[in-house]
Amino acid sequence: MDSRASPTAAGPVTVAGLAKRGWRQLGRRFRGHLRSRWLLWTMLVLLLAALLGLLVWLTGRYEASAVQSRLDAEALEVVSDLRNGLARNMRQLQLLTPDKPSVWSAQSAELLQQRREIVRLEWRDPQLQTLLGQDALMRAPVFSRTPRAQSAADVNLACSTAMRFEGAAYSNSYFVPQPDGLGLELMDLCIPQTVSGRLIGFTVATYALSDMLVEMASARLPRGYALAFTEADGTRLAMHGQLGQGQKLYQAQLLLDLPGNTLVVRMETRQGTADLFPNPLSALVSSMALALTLVLFLLVRDMRRRQKVEQDLAEALAFRNAMEDSLSTGLRARDLQGNITYVNPAFCKMVGLQAEQLLRSGDQAPYWPPEMVALYSRRQQDRYNNSAVLRAGHESVFQRSDGTRFPVLIMEAPLINAQGRHTGWMSAVLDISEQRRNEDLSRASQDRLQATARLAMVGEMASLLSHELNQPLAAIASYANGSVNLLQDALQQGQAADGAALAADLLTALQRISGQAERAGKVIRSVHDFVRRREQPRQAVAPQDLLDAIMPLVALQARKLAVQVISTVAPDCPAVLCDRTMVEQVLLNLVRNGMQAMQGTPTGGAHRVLELQVHAVHSEGESVRWVEFSVSDLGQGIDPAAAQQLFTPFFTTKAEGMGLGLSLCRTVVEQHGGTLRFESHRPQGTVFHFTLPATALSKAASPTRELSTA
Ligand code: ADP
Repeated sequence: MDSRASPTAAGPVTVAGLAKRGWRQLGRRFRGHLRSRWLLWTMLVLLLAALLGLLVWLTGRYEASAVQSRLDAEALEVVSDLRNGLARNMRQLQLLTPDKPSVWSAQSAELLQQRREIVRLEWRDPQLQTLLGQDALMRAPVFSRTPRAQSAADVNLACSTAMRFEGAAYSNSYFVPQPDGLGLELMDLCIPQTVSGRLIGFTVATYALSDMLVEMASARLPRGYALAFTEADGTRLAMHGQLGQGQKLYQAQLLLDLPGNTLVVRMETRQGTADLFPNPLSALVSSMALALTLVLFLLVRDMRRRQKVEQDLAEALAFRNAMEDSLSTGLRARDLQGNITYVNPAFCKMVGLQAEQLLRSGDQAPYWPPEMVALYSRRQQDRYNNSAVLRAGHESVFQRSDGTRFPVLIMEAPLINAQGRHTGWMSAVLDISEQRRNEDLSRASQDRLQATARLAMVGEMASLLSHELNQPLAAIASYANGSVNLLQDALQQGQAADGAALAADLLTALQRISGQAERAGKVIRSVHDFVRRREQPRQAVAPQDLLDAIMPLVALQARKLAVQVISTVAPDCPAVLCDRTMVEQVLLNLVRNGMQAMQGTPTGGAHRVLELQVHAVHSEGESVRWVEFSVSDLGQGIDPAAAQQLFTPFFTTKAEGMGLGLSLCRTVVEQHGGTLRFESHRPQGTVFHFTLPATALSKAASPTRELSTA
């Protein structure tokens, strides 16, 4: 069948249409195939049934004809016997001479004793008058009940016929009732006796037809056969023998034509019983036919099973092929000598060679790089000798037909056939060039990422440093300016100036400059550690010490911004465990934000007050675990939109702000395990709270201090 679909006038050709048409053709082909197969099988069964029927019928017919032939042959023999017997009797009867009546009687009696079919002998004169008569001695005289005269006409007719023929002649048969109530069918034989051509009388012998059958033919009659004399119309005159139990009646009729009378001899037999198999031959043929039918049935069943198995196999094969063809993994089978015995399309595609080229390639694969052949052969042998290594899989490099090389991952397993014999090896081959490429790419991007991260870190550090160093630098600048002013004043005043007081002021200023420079150094180190996410050793610091450390800077700024700073440390407040420099930076940032927030408020009075409070956090039944720091101002407060992104790095509302202060504060506090939050301050402003872990109770804190700058 042509599997290609050709466009038809029915409509435009589409892929789906072609596929559908292909399936329809395949289905038609399959159905046609099935139909023709069933037709063949039906014809075979019908022909076989017809053949068997014909065989049984022919066997029956053959048997019937055999029986008939045998019957015909038997009948011929019987008629021949009868004819011979009658001829023999005739010769003996002709010897009877009536010269002396006593002699005739004695001869007749003897003859009657020998030939029992003859029941009476008579010697009649030419006028047919009975001169002498002799009945058979063994039976009652046949004419005792009916006078002989009643059959005179038959005798006369026979004798006149004999005269006409100039020889013996038989009369027609006639029925003579007997004393026992039965009757006999008799027939007379008339033999004219002449002496020198002159008729001297007639010998008349009376035959009983039934006795003729018994005496002259029964010797030959087989069992189950019946013999009868009948008239032309079939009326039975005498009969001998018993018919068998057969279903079918066979008949053979022959004429026994005698001078003056013709008798019909009929022989019958019954053959074929009511059984299914009337005889061995039919039985044999029928049982063979049955056996043949059974074999045919078994064959049909076996064939159907086979068909089912074939169909299942074909489906399994189609499924396997589809699976192998759709695989992107290359499959390769090798025999024990290392010759390739199977490759799937994916493998061919991978190495760029045809399956035939691969199958013919021998034990040195054409996809091995030429310089690696020796190494690969050795490695293959080693692997095949060690099945554990084999299963683990290994990487290798193959060469395509165009010379390009690519890495592969090979996994192999021994091939065991259906008999459990090891016949070779099966390999799954994966082209891992894409994977390799991805790995390289990911490695490169990882490197790039790391570089970027380093750059980001540098950026973060630079930003934080510039943010955090602002304050100490401003302080240094401020102290330096102060010192310069002091010196200028002293120079202008000349000798009037108090040298000792000046020296003391300068010393203080220089000490503060040195302190702030030192602080700047610490900040740089701390920020560096912070950015590198390095854990700093923590120390127990009293909250007051923390406040004291930042106070010079706070005071400087407070003075500049005309803010009053009040710090209060609760008496029972324990020391905190912290990275001191960074926590100080947190405090500084919060204080600075608070002061800056109050820039819009009027100066003087209680408008610009910044409060720093520290107290221990008490929770029920527990010792103090946290210390809370609060920085509250009376500034403009924080509007809800800004509150959303307050801690986002680089979020600022200030013209010169960097937006890093709060984000740094929260990170530092959280690194210590604490929390940073804010809320509105009554009547105005904002309060920032943060907690730090407490150590054991520290020494009593200093009382409330006030740093007035106004
Ligand atoms: P910066 O101070 O450089 O702007 P911060 O992260 O410290 O960066 O602050 C971010 C913003 O949060 C500030 O610009 C300001 O708008 C707001 N803010 C911070 N503290 C306060 C405060 N105490 N009162 C009102 N607004 C504040």
